[in-house]
Amino acid sequence: ADAFFAANRPVGLTFDDVSLATLYSEILPKDAETSTTLSEQVRLSIPIISSDMDTVTEARMAIAMALNGGLGLIHYNMPAREQVKEVARVKRHIHGLIQDPITVRPDLHIGDVLDLIEAKNYEFRTFPVVNEKGKLVGLLSGSSVRERYRAKPVAEAMTARADIHTVSVDALKNDPIAAADAFFTQHVGIHKMLVVDNDDHLRGLATISDIERITTEAGSRRKAARDADFRLIVGAALAPVRQADGSLDRDRIIDHVSQLVAEHIDCVAVSTAHGHTAGVGDMVRLVRDAFPHLTIIAGNVTSGAGVEYLADCGANAIKVGQGPGSICTTRIVAGVGIPQLTALHVAANGARAKGVKIIADGGITKSGDIVKALTLADAVILGGLLAGCREAPGEIMEINGKIYKQYRGMGSLAAMKDGSAARYGHNKDDKTRKLTAEGIEALKEVSGSLDDVLGNLVGGLQSGMGYLGAGNLPTLRQNARYIRVSPAGQKESTPHDVIEIKAGVSS
Ligand code: 5GP
Repeated sequence: ADAFFAANRPVGLTFDDVSLATLYSEILPKDAETSTTLSEQVRLSIPIISSDMDTVTEARMAIAMALNGGLGLIHYNMPAREQVKEVARVKRHIHGLIQDPITVRPDLHIGDVLDLIEAKNYEFRTFPVVNEKGKLVGLLSGSSVRERYRAKPVAEAMTARADIHTVSVDALKNDPIAAADAFFTQHVGIHKMLVVDNDDHLRGLATISDIERITTEAGSRRKAARDADFRLIVGAALAPVRQADGSLDRDRIIDHVSQLVAEHIDCVAVSTAHGHTAGVGDMVRLVRDAFPHLTIIAGNVTSGAGVEYLADCGANAIKVGQGPGSICTTRIVAGVGIPQLTALHVAANGARAKGVKIIADGGITKSGDIVKALTLADAVILGGLLAGCREAPGEIMEINGKIYKQYRGMGSLAAMKDGSAARYGHNKDDKTRKLTAEGIEALKEVSGSLDDVLGNLVGGLQSGMGYLGAGNLPTLRQNARYIRVSPAGQKESTPHDVIEIKAGVSS
């Protein structure tokens, strides 16, 4: 301790303690390129990830994140099979192409199809017809699916294979949207495009309305984040499920990850409050050994040694942050944590040594914080900044005429009771032990659509890159020069000496 206080006098710095110095620039903000990677397979167009919290990321948020070029991590405060379904929802949401369309068999009757629509609540009435081998044999159009035809066999009511225009899956390899667009222009009056492989197995379906919506939106969107098969990318948090004796329940964990992998999950996140532990290391090693090519995110740590440890266990990207979160009370409850910018700095040194990526997790309240974080990290995780978006799950309530959305820490009592206790090293089934909360329950003002919120945040990031003469994120890291800001300087950094009538900061 003596040596610590006398010689080093380390000071923990966070976002508001520093500012970035400008540099000569030839970069216009709009030309600053924001892409990043978490591993060889996981490539993002924007370095932003939505947090695996139960008031931030489920399928709807993850789809919107990926369409904007980012990544959503689906939380684990739900039964494992529900989480697999949420992941499947994202992976099947091929903007434009439905890869596993619902089909019917030719030997069914129209009545069976009507019953199916009712039972499953389908919002569509047109079905490709396939035989038992999955080969396309016809198309049952919505106009034939009526009560009056109940007794007719599908085979009689459908358009026969010979009369259906189809597209080969090979023709869609590069740009399915452009190919579908051309198909619909060529075939007047056809509103469904069926995709087949060389053996005439059905491989997908596109509808004219989806394609028209996408082509109209295309100009305004960033490039969506997709996998090699054009599916949107998505990640999921893994619960460190334990057996009664406290050891990891290896079979259940592997079974769960296998199901996620079967749905083509792009990455899993081992999310805990303290990642530099034997338990988290075991969990990462377990998943790494069973799935050598799966991208693993793990955390959270705030030291170079923590990054190196998780890298050695097999993680590709390490989450950094203990206690900076807007709903987090770890530093108050446990007296532990390092201010976020200093934590990122030490973590970045560990990451460089091991060739892994780091992700800044927590404490980001404005776009300038994202710029500062990305001078050290490869991506950021946002909770509070996205929790007010309509794509986030959570109750909406009105108070004094304003609309708010629930936002709660995964270490809050309510969230832990719903299942996330393991993240904070507590066992929710252990009745003898009182859960100690390390997070709060809060409200965020509803902030509109994710597209708008991300538009502002990425705009701010690109401005920062422009000021630093950085055409891409690696150059931003190289060019960063930090200035420690005095208390007077901090005051000067925010609007002052005026009466603010309209908030201008994107938070
Ligand atoms: P925010 O973006 O709101 O500042 O922080 C979100 C991050 O806070 C999450 O990604 C997660 O790492 C962390 N977090 C989420 N819930 C809790 C909690 O209850 N306690 C603590 N200590 N951190 C939390």
